[in-house]
Amino acid sequence: STRIRVGIVGYGNLGRGVETAIGLNPDMELVGVFTRRDPQSVQTVGENTQAFTMSELDRDRDDIDVLILCGGSRSDLPEQSPAQAGRYNIVDSYDNHAHIPEHFAAVDAAAQTAGTTAVISTGWDPGLFSLNRVFGESIIPQGATYTFWGRGLSQGHSDAVRRVPGVAAGVQYTLPSETAIERVRAGENPELSTRERHTRECFVVLEEGADAEQVRTDIVTMPDYFEPYDTTVHFITAEELARDHQGMPHGGFVIRSGQTSGGTTSEGTKQVIEYSLALESNPEFTASVLVAYARAAARMNRAGDIGAKTVYDVAPGLLSPLSPEELRKSYL
Ligand code: NDP
Repeated sequence: STRIRVGIVGYGNLGRGVETAIGLNPDMELVGVFTRRDPQSVQTVGENTQAFTMSELDRDRDDIDVLILCGGSRSDLPEQSPAQAGRYNIVDSYDNHAHIPEHFAAVDAAAQTAGTTAVISTGWDPGLFSLNRVFGESIIPQGATYTFWGRGLSQGHSDAVRRVPGVAAGVQYTLPSETAIERVRAGENPELSTRERHTRECFVVLEEGADAEQVRTDIVTMPDYFEPYDTTVHFITAEELARDHQGMPHGGFVIRSGQTSGGTTSEGTKQVIEYSLALESNPEFTASVLVAYARAAARMNRAGDIGAKTVYDVAPGLLSPLSPEELRKSYL
């Protein structure tokens, strides 16, 4: 078969999403899932999906064209990406923005030595949002770029809410400020404070006998997490939490607004570019992006383009299952 053969490394939310996404891409096939846990204990989405131990990857398997790494950015990927790039083409979703340069260097060293191709830090942010920031900055050099996130479930802030005494369970959503977005869309190029950009909304199930007002105060005054924002706290039942808050929605906007002539005043010629995502499932969407970049990584490696890459280094046509000829006919 000439299909691109994919292995999934790490089987959490993202790993499950990749398994599902591969099923929607007929030019790709899944070799299996590789996990640090007992493979028997891992319940895959597909009945026929094979699960293997990580050590199965230690020998250079010749039935894998590219590995999609689905581990966590905090401690899994800094170790797994360089290790696997030493043997296989890889794609990862490393999202610790401040440490991407070090991650790139470590993966590049391994990939250059092994002759593999490694696309790091793809997904939507970093990933598709990064591309759109560069489009905006390059095309409209005079202007400002805005990224707004949400409405989205934030794992870190949800954990912080659950640590408040009196909270039995809860989730936190980040919302972009409508007023801020309207001002940006109107070409005002406003200076926005943290409080003006995003608001936070919590849905909390109280423990038996907990003081609701105390819980609310503890949440909204929490330094760093909530204090710099306008935060709303809703108290709900465990049933409502289970019914209405099980999804992992996310999304956001990248907006570039500037002037191409006439200076920066309101008399200037305004241009606004906007890119937006409204995602019912953050992991399923991120996984879909990773699968498209896995196709590109396999093709780049075949063409001899080795080393670490980011979304800035991958030509958009390589993401598509269509050939360059078909692309010119269909989409130009
Ligand atoms: P999870 O916590 O669901 O999974 C991370 C790893 O934990 C898995 O690879 C798995 O490794 C292990 N694991 C999963 N479930 C269990 C379990 N029940 N018990 C023990 N271990 C488990 O993380 P996500 O899949 O949600 O996210 C992964 C990363 O994706 C995030 O850290 C984030 O950095 C990145 N991301 C990037 C985005 C972007 O736009 N660039 C967007 C969204 C996420 P193993 O199978 O080896 O045990």
